[in-house]
Amino acid sequence: MMCTYPEKVTLEEGLQLLLPHVDRVSEEIIPIEESSGRVLAVNIISGENIPPFHRSPYDGYALRAADIAGASKEAPVQLSVIQEVPAGSTASREIREGEAVKILTGAPVPEGATAIVKFEDTLFTKDTVTISAPSKEGSNIVPVGEDVKEGELVIEKGRLLSPALVGLLAGLGHRTVRVYRRLTAAVLSTGDELVGVGEALTPGKIRNSSIYTIHAYLEQWNVMARMVGIVKDDAGEIAANIKESLTANDLLITTGGVSVGDYDLLKEALIQIGAEILFWKVRLKPGMAFIAALYQGKPILALSGNPSAAAVSLLLFGRPLIRKMSGMKNYQTKELLVKTAEEFPKKSPSRRMIPGTLEILDGEAWIVFAKKQGNGMLNPLRDCEILGEIEAGSPSLPRGSIIKAYRIFDR
Ligand code: AMP
Ligand code: MG
Repeated sequence: MMCTYPEKVTLEEGLQLLLPHVDRVSEEIIPIEESSGRVLAVNIISGENIPPFHRSPYDGYALRAADIAGASKEAPVQLSVIQEVPAGSTASREIREGEAVKILTGAPVPEGATAIVKFEDTLFTKDTVTISAPSKEGSNIVPVGEDVKEGELVIEKGRLLSPALVGLLAGLGHRTVRVYRRLTAAVLSTGDELVGVGEALTPGKIRNSSIYTIHAYLEQWNVMARMVGIVKDDAGEIAANIKESLTANDLLITTGGVSVGDYDLLKEALIQIGAEILFWKVRLKPGMAFIAALYQGKPILALSGNPSAAAVSLLLFGRPLIRKMSGMKNYQTKELLVKTAEEFPKKSPSRRMIPGTLEILDGEAWIVFAKKQGNGMLNPLRDCEILGEIEAGSPSLPRGSIIKAYRIFDR
């Protein structure tokens, strides 16, 4: 069978060939205490003000600013204290001329009061308070709705719910929230050389480490990931496992069998089951060996067996794909400019992605490259916060060169 599909695409072309094929998943309603890390499926519009009343931010005295307008050290003003209002209570009547209310942090400001003076700035007895400086109207009064106004769009549909946003939902009285359901993914590794982590390493074998990294990334992105395990280098077996894996999952991630000059077993298996190959190979190092395909509308990402290459492809293609399917509005990878903390001594005919950490020094963003770099290594991604890009055709880059970087661990 003849199949045609783009080969050796750029990262941007690949994303453009892949992302339009997927849609976000269905919605469900869950308790807010389970919603951190989930994606909001509705706009949250406030039905209330936060705070719901003018509030005192301090322990002090609520009074009429006009009454103390002329107060000074030489001519202090004494007011009579009519009652005490702790948090959770309200004053029984409004404040009139010459009166004050003792008020505690979080209590509502009584009617008639236009300023709060802190305890520390007063002299007081049980029934009187003496003030020796004027206060501005509104001073130390937290206005109703300062934090959130009734009718305001508080959280947009498609936002990832952070711990602070869960608190905002609680503050607005939501016991439950409508979110997109969690994606499910299957992860399988191909390779005759692979053994499970608990098995003995017989000659020529290596442990199946990649599947654990991929599984862990998926879990971090709130995907329910199922490890299918190791499949032999046999197109028929791979094909059967791909089909089986996708019956009950939203997407499939495989490793191995896509290297250039390899037996192309993944491609063969995908063709056997009639999957649509969206593209093969990406002009990136690491991450050149990669196939994106669709089977019955579900995406398949066939990653390299090389652990770092697999991780880079997963971060640059899988992450935005998963974010889009999860319902996130801003699913695309964010970029920033960074300075290189070390030189990059090699000429780079191909476009490279170098894992690194983001350091802020003297107000500037720097990338510190991973100490060990190599497609087949497990170490390069260990501390990765960003991926630094070396453009295709770059000469060696001195320290302090400005390069683009991809934020793959932001919200
Ligand atoms: P492949 O993509 O199948 O050509 O594999 C490329 C390299 O990655 C080979 O050296 C494999 O032995 C190694 N490799 C393949 N699968 C894995 C895996 N699941 N975990 C760790 N290394 C692997
Ligand atoms: Mg292989």
